[in-house]
Amino acid sequence: MAQSSFNEADRSIHCPYSEKCGACAYAGMTYEGELKVKDAEIKKTFAGICTFPPINGMYRPVYYRNKVHAVVSGDKDHSIITGTYEEGTHNVVAVEQCMIEDKQCNAIMNTLRKLFASFKYKPYDEDSKQGFIRHVLMRKGFSTKEVMVVLVTGDIMFPSKNNFVKALLDEQPEITTIVQNVNNMGNSMVLGSRNKTLYGKGYIEDALCGYRFRISPSSFYQINPAQTEKLYKTAIRMAEITKNDTVIDAYCGIGTIGIVASKNAGNVIAVELNKDAVHDAKINAELNKVTNIRFVNEDAGEFLVDYAREKRADVVIMDPPRSGSTPEFLNSLLQIQPSRIVYISCNPETQARDLQLLLKGGYQVKETAAYDLFPHTGHVETVVLLSKVDK
Ligand code: SAH
Repeated sequence: MAQSSFNEADRSIHCPYSEKCGACAYAGMTYEGELKVKDAEIKKTFAGICTFPPINGMYRPVYYRNKVHAVVSGDKDHSIITGTYEEGTHNVVAVEQCMIEDKQCNAIMNTLRKLFASFKYKPYDEDSKQGFIRHVLMRKGFSTKEVMVVLVTGDIMFPSKNNFVKALLDEQPEITTIVQNVNNMGNSMVLGSRNKTLYGKGYIEDALCGYRFRISPSSFYQINPAQTEKLYKTAIRMAEITKNDTVIDAYCGIGTIGIVASKNAGNVIAVELNKDAVHDAKINAELNKVTNIRFVNEDAGEFLVDYAREKRADVVIMDPPRSGSTPEFLNSLLQIQPSRIVYISCNPETQARDLQLLLKGGYQVKETAAYDLFPHTGHVETVVLLSKVDK
């Protein structure tokens, strides 16, 4: 099969899997061309709402993903393959080299495939519920060089566990932790709820904007740290936070934005639904000796409805998942009336929908920015600053 390649001159990638894999919608296009398409899409999505300056692209838009996921499956000849689901199907496309994933993780994946075969581990079959290995998830701290390998298995039983761990570390000694995640559910979720640390501390740490963060297997962490730093810096600058301000960091994940924002704030209240992420977030505050932040493990909408009844906030930074925020959250926001709202989004469609509600509720757009966190794919990240319209 043809090798994937990167063209330095036009910063395009050429990938033999791109058509079947579907992740890189702009594979083959020059990166300049891709950024222009992304600008045009943003313009169309926010027509009548706000305008954006040109999107901030990456200098070298390859191997940028610090998180790598692969499905483990059997080929027609029963050899083990790792890869991704073919777009819209449950067929697995074998991927041996990915242009947007970290190179070291790619090499570890190749070792894993070889070891799965030599240890005679069978890929898990979703229909018959037979077999052992379901998925591999890897995360790397680009600043710390820590690497976590999560082996998702259909069963807690791990045959020849110690020998396998030893063989993996012999070939890939830079791995800092190995976790077994048991997923015996019949759904499309990658991770089950049970983690068992086989080697190391069970999580990795990374550094971002001068702070250190712990990341567990199931916690959300931005996949492109170089671009994320730029995005966070812009979002926090936009918020113009002072020591008199109460700041809400909604959909906070492991607390990254709230912790970075806490430096200039009076106090920060951060809310997040995922229990493991909140656990990480609390440790992250301690790790960074941040004492003016408090974490709430709750649905952001439910939290804000209660909060709006009696409390006030000066700044709300919100970074919801792709589905966007909820009317519950947004209406409570309108009740609280913070002087600044910074809305970060990985899905312009839902952000545009939510902005319309905020504009009707007495806010205006003051500044916007877009970052390409996901080069070659169809995704973009946008950030919008809103302020109250003076009456
Ligand atoms: N601000 C963080 C995380 C952004 S991703 C960062 O930059 O790293 C969105 C986060 O919203 C995820 O951590 C997800 O677990 C969380 N989330 C999803 N639905 C939620 C809800 N209803 N209430 C609160 N948090 C939610």
